[in-house]
Amino acid sequence: MNEKIAIYPGSFDPLTNGHLDILARALKIFDKIIVAVAATELKKPLFSIAERLKMIKTATLNLKNVEAESFSGLLVDYALQKKANALIRGLRAVSDFEYEFQMALMNRHLAKHSKNQNHVETVYLMPDEKYTYLSSTLVKEVVRLGGDAKNFVPKFIELALIKKFKSSHAKIYL
Ligand code: ADP
Repeated sequence: MNEKIAIYPGSFDPLTNGHLDILARALKIFDKIIVAVAATELKKPLFSIAERLKMIKTATLNLKNVEAESFSGLLVDYALQKKANALIRGLRAVSDFEYEFQMALMNRHLAKHSKNQNHVETVYLMPDEKYTYLSSTLVKEVVRLGGDAKNFVPKFIELALIKKFKSSHAKIYL
């Protein structure tokens, strides 16, 4: 039987416990998950792609069947190249819904009209309630302002955030 491969795309700037929760759920459905860091110019990330990939790889070291890599260009083309026919996204609240709905239908349209008529379904998973208010943006803000992020990201990522903000403060104030 064909291996069921799914792509979990996102910015992961940085990876949070919410992302890890979705990943654990997705692993119950799919044989292999590729966490795909989007190399987009649209958002100004705090961490470089290499840093984000390293964090994902470290945090998923004990999870079999998880890979991490970056991608650019159309997600549906990347999914086809990886022989994946599903995309994983997380739904935290109603506020996520509209954007996600548009994106899923656009990806379906693009896949259907691509040269290869690829078939890609987007699968939405809901995290544990305790992560529904969690986002990478909020974690960055909490750490930047000196708050405790231990319940939101793995310890080594919290330390990386603290280090990043220390060095950027140094740059601003020196
Ligand atoms: P993007 O810039 O594509 O939204 P993110 O890294 O912010 O990238 O999110 C990637 C995916 O993970 C999205 O589907 C997002 O909804 C989901 N996600 C992010 N944080 C959480 C969370 N706390 N719980 C569940 N899903 C989440």
